[in-house]
Amino acid sequence: MDNGQKPKEAKETKEAKNGLFEESPVFQMACRQLENVAEVIDVDPGVLERMLKPKRSMIVSVPVRMDDGNTRNFIGYRVQHSLTSGPAKGGLRYHPSVDLGEVAALAMWMSWKCGIMNLPFGGAKGGIAVDPAKISKGEKERLTRRFTEEVLCIIGPRMDVMAPDLGTDEQDMAYIMDTYSMSVGYACPEIVTGKPVELGGCVGRREATGRGAVYCIMQALQEIKANASESTAVVQGFGNVGAVVCQELATRGIKVVAVSDRYGAIANPRGIDIAALTQHVSSGKHLKEFSGGGQIAPDEVLTTPCTILVPAALERVINAGNASRIKCRILAEGANGPTTPEADDILKDSDIFVIPDVICNAGGVTVSYFEWVQDIQQFLWSEQQVNQKLEELMLKAFHQVRSLAKTRHLPMRTAALSLGVQKTAKEKNRRGLYP
Ligand code: NAD
Repeated sequence: MDNGQKPKEAKETKEAKNGLFEESPVFQMACRQLENVAEVIDVDPGVLERMLKPKRSMIVSVPVRMDDGNTRNFIGYRVQHSLTSGPAKGGLRYHPSVDLGEVAALAMWMSWKCGIMNLPFGGAKGGIAVDPAKISKGEKERLTRRFTEEVLCIIGPRMDVMAPDLGTDEQDMAYIMDTYSMSVGYACPEIVTGKPVELGGCVGRREATGRGAVYCIMQALQEIKANASESTAVVQGFGNVGAVVCQELATRGIKVVAVSDRYGAIANPRGIDIAALTQHVSSGKHLKEFSGGGQIAPDEVLTTPCTILVPAALERVINAGNASRIKCRILAEGANGPTTPEADDILKDSDIFVIPDVICNAGGVTVSYFEWVQDIQQFLWSEQQVNQKLEELMLKAFHQVRSLAKTRHLPMRTAALSLGVQKTAKEKNRRGLYP
């Protein structure tokens, strides 16, 4: 080029390449975990090859009329890792760093999670690269509706069922349900889970992920022979998962001594008043301005000494850089993918009891399954029935994983993933390869 500028084509090629899931560190992490598992279970190499790639990925451009009259174009993704066991199932995430690789990794983890919990779903995930805190309510509604419209050809109650994740909530699920229903011409609550109860949502779904994590934590406390009343907890993230974990731990007499969100962190060695903090945050104030704790550096949260550490925000936060400084007895992974394989290598030499994400946060998809079944059958369960069944399924999965880990001398993550991978692999084998 004679003007000294880079050829346009070269720049576009690089951007397109960066968008491929194979280059994403999160996707590489998910593949590495799967390959590690394949070393300890008997899996057909052809099936393994198929499981290393998502079944279907869709990238959509989502134009939105902003409040100021201008149009902004967002990029959205929906990845279905597997359709072998039933409809694909997984959340929809709004975060600025969302890309195809991250969504593909999260979709793969969903397959293993559904397998461990024995749910009739394959894994999926979706996301839009957007900071939800920087758009208005109206803009978020238009974004959600237009995204739904753009992915309409690959979603459906028997094909792909979305749910809330980072940055989305039950109101967004209501918009998806409405947009889909308007398109098919009848009310279709079973298109989405985690929606408001008035629209066919399941009582207890919002709390299910945090509650399920705490059921596992209580079992892990028994494993390490620790008393709840003498235990302390630190939670990263105070959203759907983190806030409920804090509330459920506090109810069981466990002191929450540090909490953080994207804006900052607070600590109080005597225990944070979680009910008061919840009220403070619900009134629209920042967590770090809560008077019942002193501010600490957000980085310090994960290395604060405690009995139970719960990362409940983003992936890859426990990594080679900080793993050796983690000072907890139980690491309960509320978030998806919070611990990198490098960190796992460091933690395996410690006495930290890891409750891996694929069981720890499986309560959400489990109650999503209850919601889907109720919607399809036009049937309503009570909150007591939901919680009882959730606890039963969580404990069953926890003990299956624990017993496999003990008998085969495997880390908890490898044991958990092997159960999930094995179920999907078996089903692929039995169905055979079409045509
Ligand atoms: P959310 O949007 O409701 O809450 C996320 C929280 O994390 C917020 O408090 C936010 O401020 C905080 N956060 C964001 N960036 C942070 C940072 N850098 N440091 C500290 N805190 C930060 O999301 P959620 O639904 O609670 O999801 C949290 C995690 O749990 C995600 O990994 C998600 O995939 C996983 N998960 C959620 C569900 C569910 O049912 N919602 C189910 C399974 C797994």
